[in-house]
Amino acid sequence: MSERRISFFDTKIEYLKGVGPSKGEILNKELNIFTFGDLIEYYPFRHEDRTQFHRICDLHDGMFAAQIKGRLRSWEKIGEGAKARLVGQFTDGTGVLELTWFQGITWVEKNLRLQGDYIVYGKPSSFGSKWQITHPDMDVLTAENERGGYFQPVYSLTDKLRKKYIDSKQISRWMRTLLESAVTNIRETLPAPLVQKFRLISKQEAIYHIHLPLNQEALRQAQRRLKFEELFYNQFRLIKQKLIRRHDYAGQVFDKTKLLTDFYQNYLPFDLTNAQKKVIREIFHDMRSGKQMNRLLQGDVGSGKTIVAFITMLLALDNDAQACLMAPTEILSDQHYTGLKKFADLMGLKIVELTGSVGKKQRRIIDAGLLDGSINIIVGTHALLEDHVQFKNLGLCVIDEQHRFGVAQRAKLWEKNQNFRPHILVMTATPIPRTLAMTLYGDLDISIIDELPKGRKPIKTLHKYDSDRLRVFEFLRSEIQKGRQVYIVYPLIEESETMTVKNLMDGYESIARAFPEYALSIVHGKMGWKEKDYEMQRFKNKETEILVATTVIEVGVDVPNASVMLIESANRFGLSQLHQLRGRVGRGAEQSYCILMTDHKLGKDTRLRIDTMVRTNNGFEISEVDLSLRGPGDMAGTQQSGMLDLKVADLAKDGEILKYAREAVMEILDNDPELESTENQPIKQHVNALRSNETNWSRIS
Ligand code: ADP
Ligand code: MG
Repeated sequence: MSERRISFFDTKIEYLKGVGPSKGEILNKELNIFTFGDLIEYYPFRHEDRTQFHRICDLHDGMFAAQIKGRLRSWEKIGEGAKARLVGQFTDGTGVLELTWFQGITWVEKNLRLQGDYIVYGKPSSFGSKWQITHPDMDVLTAENERGGYFQPVYSLTDKLRKKYIDSKQISRWMRTLLESAVTNIRETLPAPLVQKFRLISKQEAIYHIHLPLNQEALRQAQRRLKFEELFYNQFRLIKQKLIRRHDYAGQVFDKTKLLTDFYQNYLPFDLTNAQKKVIREIFHDMRSGKQMNRLLQGDVGSGKTIVAFITMLLALDNDAQACLMAPTEILSDQHYTGLKKFADLMGLKIVELTGSVGKKQRRIIDAGLLDGSINIIVGTHALLEDHVQFKNLGLCVIDEQHRFGVAQRAKLWEKNQNFRPHILVMTATPIPRTLAMTLYGDLDISIIDELPKGRKPIKTLHKYDSDRLRVFEFLRSEIQKGRQVYIVYPLIEESETMTVKNLMDGYESIARAFPEYALSIVHGKMGWKEKDYEMQRFKNKETEILVATTVIEVGVDVPNASVMLIESANRFGLSQLHQLRGRVGRGAEQSYCILMTDHKLGKDTRLRIDTMVRTNNGFEISEVDLSLRGPGDMAGTQQSGMLDLKVADLAKDGEILKYAREAVMEILDNDPELESTENQPIKQHVNALRSNETNWSRIS
């Protein structure tokens, strides 16, 4: 929080009035709250509006919560044992409200007084003409609270805390005690001009009102201020890292272009799209700058990233360096190898593949070729990271599907060249929303291919119900008769792999019955890779017309003649998965189709997913919807990132604030990179405080 924290905010929590050693220990253990500072930063996740009272006669359906002053007239215990419930009659003179308890009945009977006056709070629901609240929050009516209370903060709690009667009210009482003496010690963490420019409230006000707001507006302002601050420092750290790296790590300068020119003039099989040209320019600019490149290349499936990777590799090769490409799975590695080898062979370049299934002898040959420089390009899996893989001069690493690799692995690749860190190009076919890209990959520069090669017809996506099945099958048949091939995909059943396979086999049998005249391939997760490969090859070679599969075909399969993707139980798939699957078709010149099959009953979210798929082919648009539905924590790649432990900001909603915070950081670092000006001292102090907090390991033990 600030340097002064050392004397005040570092005070042990047990010394707070009303806490003491035993409750202090529970707070340590259950909530990781050790100090005054920790408590202050323990933000509530919502608030209850206790400022207003309602009358029973005014209750209506759809009320989130109601607060009523009145009298507990009587109660009755209904049922026995585990099924027992207690029903109380409560009235405020305008009507009667039933209060129901299923749990803690004994406690209620012992502690609540009949004919006593209470304030009742909870979500009302109606049964005919009767209103009821289950497990209401009850307070004895006092002279103090009868005029209305506060915005009551609600904190996350654990069962252990509840057992010790440490509830949200208790925590907010402690918070009030603490804030009353602490708030003036809280230092501003943002420069004054920034606070003014974005009309933020001060840190002191924000902290007070995030816990104990006087009204909705004060709460909103507090959240806005704290979100801004959080995102500001998130971006500050990332951008600062990027600048340090640029400053500290020189890169090989690649300015010769002999092979490249040869390739462009004689071998390039198609015109590049404008988007491909643009990203190639961005990449080349980096690779000639004398600084090490760290760039993320985002492009939808089929946007043509492979050729961009190859052209980038040529630039490295032109300058006496080698290139590698690392993929997350063996299938993908094979596919890249095959794709790149076509070009490499034309150019007389030596390319090899290294995966876990390469034998020892072959591996030694590869090691030697890499070391003496006779191998130009190597494609592979994690096997590339092993220590025995050493290069003569590794100049470029292309990493496919970044989100499956961690930063530590990127660092391992850096070490493969002792003189210069190799340039790094990360490619991903999973478009992610801008806000996520900024926070997840804020330390990378970003290039985007947002255009598909010409002549591609956009895939038509249709939503069909199980009751349309016959007509859907007729459609498949007519496509196959035109010489095309069809994918039929079944969902993974989360609970069990056996169920998944059974579901798939049932489907397979019904497809076989419906299409007796065609040959089928089948691929699922329980098959060995050789078997899978055999089936895939048959499909690829047009020996079979239909490929029935679980989602194992999600990434990497390339069969341009396949023009229909039929997805069974489409409601069971996430948006990004559906989009990835759809990307398997539309690779040839023919019109392609994606058919989403569901039954008639669809929830609200499912309907939005399906509608989004039908409406657009744009992966970035789809990822925005996905983010709004699932939140950042469940999006591909965010789990292991650790960068997303944001406390107040929500990337699905706060994109605008993130953008402003990021621009503010860039402007400040542009004008005052060392933070020397007086107005930027709050930043310097806060960064130091954050850093010393990070290294304060004692808290974790
Ligand atoms: P992805 O971005 O999914 O890796 P690929 O690189 O596999 O896409 O490209 C998909 C297909 O489009 C490949 O068959 C590739 O040869 C072709 N392709 C790539 N760029 C172009 C282009 N500019 N014009 C025509 N076809 C292209
Ligand atoms: Mg690809």
